[in-house]
Amino acid sequence: MRKPFIAGNWKMHKTVADAVNFARRLREAASRCTDRDVLIAPPFTALSAVTEVLKGTGIHVAAQNLHESRQGAFTGEISGPMIAEAGCDYVIVGHSERRTLFGEDDALIARKIEAALGCGLRVIFCIGETLQEREAGLTSGVVERQIKEGLKTLRNDDIKHLVIAYEPVWAIGTGKTATPGQAEEVHASIRTLMGRLFSEAAADSMPILYGGSAKPDNMAELMAEKNVDGGLIGGASLEFDSFFRMVMFDRKD
Ligand code: PEP
Repeated sequence: MRKPFIAGNWKMHKTVADAVNFARRLREAASRCTDRDVLIAPPFTALSAVTEVLKGTGIHVAAQNLHESRQGAFTGEISGPMIAEAGCDYVIVGHSERRTLFGEDDALIARKIEAALGCGLRVIFCIGETLQEREAGLTSGVVERQIKEGLKTLRNDDIKHLVIAYEPVWAIGTGKTATPGQAEEVHASIRTLMGRLFSEAAADSMPILYGGSAKPDNMAELMAEKNVDGGLIGGASLEFDSFFRMVMFDRKD
């Protein structure tokens, strides 16, 4: 049985003070959501402060990116060991904004995933097709290529440290959410492919999150699908009340 997994990606938003205030509210509420995985991904500058506030609560903290080397002359970059030292247990890799705005390709993403796992971080691996690709009937081929290329160095044992986030690019930040049926169709195909590439057991226990204009109002219907285990939430994760409603998508307490 997979636990619901609700993650907030703050992107380049929030000062350290804002991030800490949010984290304090999450700490106060943490005892109400111990039956699910909850994660926030603040900007690099706020990671240490946020992990300090959330220590011992069971709430996960992710960085939004990492460099594929452990250290070196890479001005402006942050490595996996630095992220782990800041107290994070996860890192997001392959977000569509990294792919399109920063030119990250499947090969680089594969190296980043390997680097992250190599220093003990778990990975939220983002994949998804553009509108053009969907309209051309290429969705399953694109997702399959991203998975095969991105995970090509992984072994069965690594999959327990992996979460896949299916984020159709046309739904990210656009207000256009995939229908539950559209999300389920791709999620089911991801799980089948993971079963073929690794093992049924690994694929069965791996959370697959949906991302793309998820909101408090549509979270429960997305989560009702068999293979939708949670959400990677951008805009709607920035306000505590909105995010926490999504964390508690199936409860009124
Ligand atoms: C995201 O960037 O991962 C995302 C899903 O954003 P939004 O929820 O704002 O569409």
